[in-house]
Amino acid sequence: MRPMLGLMQDVPLTLDTIFRHVEQHHGDVPIVTNGPGGPVRSTYAAWADRTRRLGGVLDTLGVSADGRVGTFAWNSQRHLELYYGVPCTGRVLHTLNIRLFPEQLTYVVNHGEDEVVFVDRTVLPLLWPLIDTMTTVRHVVVMDDGGTNEVPDDPRVRDYETLLAAAEPVAFGVVRDENTAASMCYTSGTTGNPKGVLYSHRSTVLHAMAVVSPNGFGIGVHDVAMPVVPMFHANAWGLAQAAPMAGAAMVFPGAMMQPQALADLIVAEGVTFTAGVPTIWQGMLPHLAGREHQLRKIGCGGSAVPAALSEAYREQVGLPIYQAWGMTETHPVASGGTLARRYDDADEATKAALRARQGVPLFGVQARIVTAGTTDELPWDDVATGELQVRGPWCAASYYEEPGTELTTEDGWMKTGDIAALDEFGSIRIADRTKDLIKSGGEWISSVDLENAIMAHPAVAEAAVVAVPNPTWGERPLACVVVKPGETLTEAQVLDHLRPLVASWWLPDAVEFIDEVPKTSVGKFSKKDLRSRFAEYPAKS
Ligand code: AMP
Repeated sequence: MRPMLGLMQDVPLTLDTIFRHVEQHHGDVPIVTNGPGGPVRSTYAAWADRTRRLGGVLDTLGVSADGRVGTFAWNSQRHLELYYGVPCTGRVLHTLNIRLFPEQLTYVVNHGEDEVVFVDRTVLPLLWPLIDTMTTVRHVVVMDDGGTNEVPDDPRVRDYETLLAAAEPVAFGVVRDENTAASMCYTSGTTGNPKGVLYSHRSTVLHAMAVVSPNGFGIGVHDVAMPVVPMFHANAWGLAQAAPMAGAAMVFPGAMMQPQALADLIVAEGVTFTAGVPTIWQGMLPHLAGREHQLRKIGCGGSAVPAALSEAYREQVGLPIYQAWGMTETHPVASGGTLARRYDDADEATKAALRARQGVPLFGVQARIVTAGTTDELPWDDVATGELQVRGPWCAASYYEEPGTELTTEDGWMKTGDIAALDEFGSIRIADRTKDLIKSGGEWISSVDLENAIMAHPAVAEAAVVAVPNPTWGERPLACVVVKPGETLTEAQVLDHLRPLVASWWLPDAVEFIDEVPKTSVGKFSKKDLRSRFAEYPAKS
């Protein structure tokens, strides 16, 4: 028997619904972008007009109906124009991480088949030398963000403002199916090449509704929201959709990412909500401490938020840090640390310990822990640890064009590669990760790539690279090296050998010479043993 169906309208959840809402109801709300010449002021109304013209620019450039449009840019109003102008015309926004190395950048542009890349002038020198390796890119549109870098005299190079001034505004509404892809973001938080996560209009809208809700970031019409988390990494944690959806004013730091500049911007612009990785808040603490400000929530995630950092904010800035957990694969916000009513009367030490957890899944996401490699669920007793798996309408089902990469279990849960415990209410406590990676300042370093590079040295018998805690960066790589019998090697020689092979921020902070890399019963490197052996390793900076 057919079930009785509801009689409600079936209106698709597409990004142009957010665009239209903010255009119609919040046009007078300010948008501010910082720059070398000071803040540039605008409104959602002006932004909406430019965003519609951007649709016209994409037509002028001949970008295909579902063409991929790359962005290589800081957080700015222009980037927000791309966040809507691209998907609202049916194309797919591909945010390129400016911290990828050259080979990775070429790889993701070619894998995503980007037809055009919009690039901030300040970061043009990172992209332009690679342009001939990017086989599908036909145009590079330069957005002049006050950088002084020379713009190449090349027919492929176009100027954003010139194109926008000449373009006709377009009507949105071409996307009818909410499951159409809206944007893609590659993650290097896996082994091997970066993998593409392909967000749909529906998943983007649903995620933003969770982010905007009180247990999420809780953003409303009275807020001034400043995403410090980059718009080139993990969809800026949904803030580019959540703030416009709520009619909140937006403040963008542009390329002015120095701690002092960020703190001054927060104070001067009356920012009430902001979000970024722990390294950002660590650096900003001395610049915010004791100052008058309007902040009422600071979102933080991407790496564990140390209790000491959150407590220092509570004591010196007047509010603790709100911790969220998630992944590029979960849009990314999946859980958050709003404390339940049962803790209202708890003492500050208990609350600090609770805030150091990764929080409870936001409505829409389910979480479980299992014995790794199985679907056997473990108890929620805060003792048992197992692989964290999640499920929900904004969790990825698979990677873009990566056959053979298993992201989802046979019973439909997404494998996170994080090891966690859950307490009796399902609050997540991340304990470890199975991914052989190091997260430094919110970006990934592949220990396997570093090990292979070190082991290419003729005097090295074997090498393992592990994360050691660091107060500024969260984690930093430590190289544990076994020298071949009869050979000698110094730390300086290992680092000199690595320098031409890896990005400078990947260079291990130190090299420890050990007799043997500990092995598991099946002969694999036991990183766990090395991590606990060096858990107290003195931080370099
Ligand atoms: P990404 O896709 O680059 O955002 O990285 C996601 C990964 O970052 C997660 O799988 C975790 O390993 C780590 N991560 C994110 N948020 C947190 C957090 N609050 N605490 C600990 N680890 C986190």
